Amino acid sequence: MISESDFRAQIRDMLSAYDEKDFERWEQERHLPRAVPAALGAAGLFRRRWEHGPEGGLPRLVAMCQELCQASSGLALATMGHSEIFIGALHWLAGGPRQLGLLEEALDGRAIGCFGATEEQSGSNLVNVQTTAVAEDGGWRLTGRKRFISNVGRADYMVVLARMDSPSHVADLSLFLLPLDHPGVSVDGFFETMGLHACDVGQVTFDAKLPADALLGNRGIGLLYATHLLQFERLAICAQLIGTADVALRLAVAYARRRSLGEQRVMDKQAVRHRLAACRAELWNLESRLEHLVAGAQRDRRMPAHEISALKLTAGESVCRIIDTTMQILGARGYTRNFPLERLWRDARLSRLGGGTDEVLSDMVASGLDRHDPHFDDLVSRLRTSDLPHITVMDGN
Ligand SMILES: Cc1cc2nc3c(=O)[nH]c(=O)nc-3n(C[C@H](O)[C@H](O)[C@H](O)COP(=O)(O)OP(=O)(O)OC[C@H]3O[C@@H](n4cnc5c(N)ncnc54)[C@H](O)[C@@H]3O)c2cc1C
Repeated sequence: MISESDFRAQIRDMLSAYDEKDFERWEQERHLPRAVPAALGAAGLFRRRWEHGPEGGLPRLVAMCQELCQASSGLALATMGHSEIFIGALHWLAGGPRQLGLLEEALDGRAIGCFGATEEQSGSNLVNVQTTAVAEDGGWRLTGRKRFISNVGRADYMVVLARMDSPSHVADLSLFLLPLDHPGVSVDGFFETMGLHACDVGQVTFDAKLPADALLGNRGIGLLYATHLLQFERLAICAQLIGTADVALRLAVAYARRRSLGEQRVMDKQAVRHRLAACRAELWNLESRLEHLVAGAQRDRRMPAHEISALKLTAGESVCRIIDTTMQILGARGYTRNFPLERLWRDARLSRLGGGTDEVLSDMVASGLDRHDPHFDDLVSRLRTSDLPHITVMDGN
């Protein structure tokens, strides 16, 4: 079994085939070459991430996210969609020769996948999904339009969240495997986004006749599947954020140590030292929280949904603030494209929208709080019964 440091070394080795010019070219082309995630698969990295199972492989997921986002945030985004949603769904739910064969292809990077949940009427609230799956001739007719889909321009398959024909319940959704080169499927175009330019974000429309085994897992519980898979994506986003903030902070510290203003270095200014120290402290807290969550999930073989939401919520806000601070410390240079901070600043912002918005995650954390707590419920009841003013005896005036 290879160690975590060997796993990281393997990713770095694979990435050494590319340099800054390649990363810049991907940004300019607004697409990640399909060959890049394919090469990660060919190097055996997806197999290693998954060989100890979804939770058992979390330390490798974290390592992969952190290494990839140092090269390109867009690469990390596209790769995580492929690994954590596409492979994650197949690893969990695949049955029958075609789906099991597709899992092997996905692990080897021969088939690349993305995730299609969002639509015009359903972003935060996936219960509103309008895409329909109708049983037809022993197979399915899948009809709908998905928006804001990462890497849809270079992926081969999309895992689609769709509403079943004649649903018995409003949340009667299922997951389907849609080949993006299938007749009746068209990628309509791509959105101009603020950041993460190396990964395209597009819209796809489909009215496709699919075989029976396009259905992934059991019908009617697709929302539950998607919600579980999103826990892995959220954890991956946390790892990417922490990796990105680490890069930004080290860059700012190096700059502050090397830039002199008269007799003093920028690093000698107390206001700067303290801001950098506060960023470092905040980042250490996030790192140890991530480690704690990963260790707990590995031990219990369970993803703690509320705690992952809480970490993504705080990591998103903290890391956007940390990168903003590091940009401040570089002065005008931080704002130019000669330094990577303006790109990191733009890239990090998606984390507060994608994979669950701050507001949705806050609601989720709050729902975990809103539970019976015998000790404190009782204490509040007792305190409220004696919640009276002290009686002050007034004198005769
Ligand atoms: C770059 C990028 C890549 C993406 N990649 C993918 C992808 O690969 N696959 C995919 O399926 N989707 C993807 N998305 C879509 C993303 O998941 C959605 O944008 C996100 O879920 C929010 O949905 P929405 O944009 O429709 O916002 P809406 O749901 O319309 O929300 C609008 C605002 O209302 C708030 N809000 C909503 N519900 C509540 C509530 N209950 N309480 C309080 N406030 C609320 C939201 O927080 C938000 O501030 C991507 C988006 C972007 C920008």
